[in-house]
Amino acid sequence: MKKRALNRRDVLKLAAIAGAGTLASHPAAAGANEIKSSKKAVSKKRPLHIAIVGGGMAGTALAYRLSRAITYPVITMYEPGENSCWYQPGLTMIGTGIWSVADVSYLRDDYLPMHVTLNRNAVTKIDGSTRTVTDSGGNKTKYDHIIVATGLQLDFAAIRGLEGSVASLQPLEKVADWMNDPAVASVYYLHGAIRLPRQVEALVQKARKSGGRAKLQVRFAQPSIAFKSPAAAKSVLLRLTQALESAGVVDRAEIVFSSEDGRLSANDDYDRSYRKLLEKEGVVFKKEKLLRVDTEKRKAVFSVSGETAYDFLHIVPPMKAGAFLAKSGLLSKDGFVDVDDETLEHKVHAHIFAIGDVAGCAALKTAAAISSQIQTVTETIRRLDEGKKPKATYDGYGCDTLLCPENTTALYEAWDYGSRPLSPVISLAPLKCHAMYWYSSLYADKAYLMRGVLRGWA
Ligand SMILES: Cc1cc2nc3c(=O)[nH]c(=O)nc-3n(C[C@H](O)[C@H](O)[C@H](O)COP(=O)(O)OP(=O)(O)OC[C@H]3O[C@@H](n4cnc5c(N)ncnc54)[C@H](O)[C@@H]3O)c2cc1C
Repeated sequence: MKKRALNRRDVLKLAAIAGAGTLASHPAAAGANEIKSSKKAVSKKRPLHIAIVGGGMAGTALAYRLSRAITYPVITMYEPGENSCWYQPGLTMIGTGIWSVADVSYLRDDYLPMHVTLNRNAVTKIDGSTRTVTDSGGNKTKYDHIIVATGLQLDFAAIRGLEGSVASLQPLEKVADWMNDPAVASVYYLHGAIRLPRQVEALVQKARKSGGRAKLQVRFAQPSIAFKSPAAAKSVLLRLTQALESAGVVDRAEIVFSSEDGRLSANDDYDRSYRKLLEKEGVVFKKEKLLRVDTEKRKAVFSVSGETAYDFLHIVPPMKAGAFLAKSGLLSKDGFVDVDDETLEHKVHAHIFAIGDVAGCAALKTAAAISSQIQTVTETIRRLDEGKKPKATYDGYGCDTLLCPENTTALYEAWDYGSRPLSPVISLAPLKCHAMYWYSSLYADKAYLMRGVLRGWA
C-alpha cells in the first residue's frame, strides 16, 4: 500500500477516538519514524544546500521536514514577512464573525526550525540553469535544490477601478482607498475579513429600512482561474443569507453569484452540490466576468449583465504568482510554477520544486494539500541525496471547508486532482453539512495545521 501523510480526515477519525488537540500535535502522527530510519541508512555525506523561497505555511512545514530527513542539510529560508506563519484559513472565521485577529496571528520567528537560516530579504530572481537565487539585498547564492513556496498575490488591480493592490507578504496589508467602500467586500485578505461582519450587518439594516420597495442588489463575483480556498466566498454567502433570514428580510434582496467560467467547482459532483445548497438560499447563478467597479457610483460592470448597481459586492480577486517568477522563466501559461503534477519538480529544471498555492498542479489550493506535498518533496530530495531513484508521488489531495447554516460545516475534499471526490466515510455525500465538521473547524483544524503540518509532523 502507498504510504501517505495524515490528512484532515485521518485526524478527524483519530480525534473522534482520542481527542483532537493532543492528536493533532502528536509526533508519531505522520511518518516521523520513517524519517528517522532513513538517517540511519546513510553513512558519509556532503552538506546538501537547500533554498526554500517563502516561509508561509508550505515553506515552513517543508523546512521542518527536510531538516529532520536529510543527513547534513544546510537550509536557507527566504521570508521577509514577520507574520508569515499566520493561520490564513481563519480568515473565513473572522469574516463570518466567529473569530478575531488574535486567533490567526502567529509569528514567523516562533516557527523557524532550529538550524534553518532565515534570510529576511525577498527573492528577486531564480536562475534555473546556474541554480542560483538572488535576493533583494543583491546577494546571489548557489544551491543544490530550490523550493518555491511563495503563495499567491491578490490581483484586485486586474479589475478596473480596484487599483492599488494588496501586498501578499504581510497579513496586515497596505489598504487601497477603494477598500474602505462599505459595500465592497472580500474575505480573502485580513482587512477585508475584519470588515465583513459589519458590512453584512449594514446590509441587513438597509434591507430592514427599505420596506421591500426595491430589492437590494447583492453580488458575488469569482474568477475562473485557480484560486485559493474556493469555498471561502460561499461560506460568506451562506452566512449573509442566514443573517437576512434571521432578520426576516431575505426576500428584500436579490442575490446573484457570477463566476467567470460558470462553475462553482472544477469537480462535477461538488459543482452540483454547491448549486443545490445555494439555490435553496434563492441564489441566481450567472456565467460572466467582473470587469469594472465604480465604488463612487456603486456600480459594477459584468461581461454579460453589463452595468449593475450593487448594495453589496463580494469579490474573489484573481490570484497570481509573484512577478519575479515570471521573470525567472519558471511559470506555465496558466501563471503558476510549471511543475509535474506527481513529483512537483519543475518541468525544465529538475532541481527546482514548487509547493503550496504557487505550485502549478491541478489540486485544490488549500493548506490541507501541503502535508502530502511536503512529504513528496522531502522524500524525493532525500532519495536523490542518497543516490537513489525518487519514487514518492503527490496524490493531488486537497480539502477546503464550507461554513454552512446552523453551525454546521461541509468538507470540500478531493483526491486525484479533483477527479475523485472522497468516497464518504463520515459524511454522507459531497458537501454534506455536518455538526461534527463545525466543531472540527472551530477546534481541530487549526491544531492540526499549526501544530501538526506547520511543524512538519503531519
Ligand atoms: C479566506 C481563506 C480561507 C481559506 N480556507 C482554507 C481552508 O478551509 N482549508 C485549507 O486547507 N486552506 C484554506 N485556505 C488556503 C490556505 O490558507 C493556503 O492554501 C495556504 O496558506 C498556502 O500556503 P503557502 O505557503 O503556499 O502560501 P502563503 O501562506 O501565502 O505563504 C507564502 C509566503 O511566501 C512569501 N513570499 C512571497 N514572495 C516572496 C519572495 N519573493 N521572496 C521570499 N518570500 C516570498 C510571503 O511573504 C508568504 O509568507 C484559505 C485561504 C484563504 C485566503
